[in-house]
Amino acid sequence: MLAFVTDVPLGRLSFLAAAWFFALFPCLIAQDLDLLMKGGHVIDPKNGLNGVMDVGIADGKIARVAPDIPPASAKRTVNLKGLYLVPGLIDMHVHVFYGTDPEAAYSNGPNAVVPDGFTFRSGVTTVVDTGSPGWRNFPQFKRQVIDASRTRVLALLNIVGHGMRGDPYEQDLADMDAKLTAARVKANPGVLVGVKVAHYSGPEWDPVDRAVEAGRLAEVPVMIDFGGHQPELSLESLLLKHLHPGDIFTHMYAAVRGRIPITDEQGTVRPYVRKARERGIIFDVGHGGGSFFWGQAVPAVKQGFLPDVISTDLHRGSMNAGMKDILNVMSKMLNLGMALEHVVSASTWKPAQCIRRLDLGHLSPGSDADLAVLRLREGDFGFTDVVGKRLPGRLKLESELTIREGHIVWDLNGIAADEWRAN
Ligand SMILES: [Zn+2]
Repeated sequence: MLAFVTDVPLGRLSFLAAAWFFALFPCLIAQDLDLLMKGGHVIDPKNGLNGVMDVGIADGKIARVAPDIPPASAKRTVNLKGLYLVPGLIDMHVHVFYGTDPEAAYSNGPNAVVPDGFTFRSGVTTVVDTGSPGWRNFPQFKRQVIDASRTRVLALLNIVGHGMRGDPYEQDLADMDAKLTAARVKANPGVLVGVKVAHYSGPEWDPVDRAVEAGRLAEVPVMIDFGGHQPELSLESLLLKHLHPGDIFTHMYAAVRGRIPITDEQGTVRPYVRKARERGIIFDVGHGGGSFFWGQAVPAVKQGFLPDVISTDLHRGSMNAGMKDILNVMSKMLNLGMALEHVVSASTWKPAQCIRRLDLGHLSPGSDADLAVLRLREGDFGFTDVVGKRLPGRLKLESELTIREGHIVWDLNGIAADEWRAN
């Protein structure tokens, strides 16, 4: 053999040596994957995947999704037997502009929460702050929250220049400027992904129309938290005239003062609400501290009026009440009869489409390796709405492991960790 080797040109020597080496030590064959997620039930609605699959991760990206990837090709393998593996959840309605101004409510104030403190432990890797900052204080939000977080933080800019700073700021029509709002959005493409309007209690349509105008100028959708107007404004006009296709109606299962709910007194989904969906208005749960009533959700779901997007409206009030976290809200929808694949889609690929970030919410090779490993538990559980009414349920989703850009950022039971052994 030595004679054979000496006969070949020098350039092939290293190749032959490598071939021999790997033939002798097969376990060392090309470990091109950093992480191999093995044997989990993958649900990836964008790619039509719903079954047991392996997912390989390299350099923070999804490298391969295939039925059987050999563990020898990965530096670390995590056994996911009996667990679900889904794209990292996208929570499309949160308030994360936390800060130290006690008067500032959700806009650099104490009502908002630190994203990393509440996201990864619930399988969430991307959040969309919905209108906590406005065009005036967005630079502070960017420095203080976006740049300081491991969670991917995106935002809808409030039509109010000061954002959700409470009253009287949020009642000031003079601070609702479509052009300046649109200019900020356009200067931050992909990060500012829409415009938000909320909390105005006057009889005018101006806040809605200016937000829609800002959305048109910046070519992004508008999300509306509707209600509280005195006198009440027409829900039909909002959904069929003022909003455009692609705009988002949040708090869909609310029943609050100053807002017509989506079902009528008999519990029937109003025909113009269905018409709004047909014309492309997006319906978002936005559970929050005051916007999810069994009295709306149960009859609407029975009539097939399901959410397009499942989101939390996370803030310090909602997380300590009936909402809790996105998995709790997803579990509510599961127990009402929504299929798991549909629930996953409404918290991954669908919100990604709504905010026009088509690079997110799926497991296509080459995309950022943001993943959530979930356990679907069966047992006796209970779920409360925003007025504290309880419904029992048999199903509950729990966050087992979360990966953000290939890094393990949450591991409830240490399933990705090495065993400790005494020396
Ligand atoms: Zn909100």
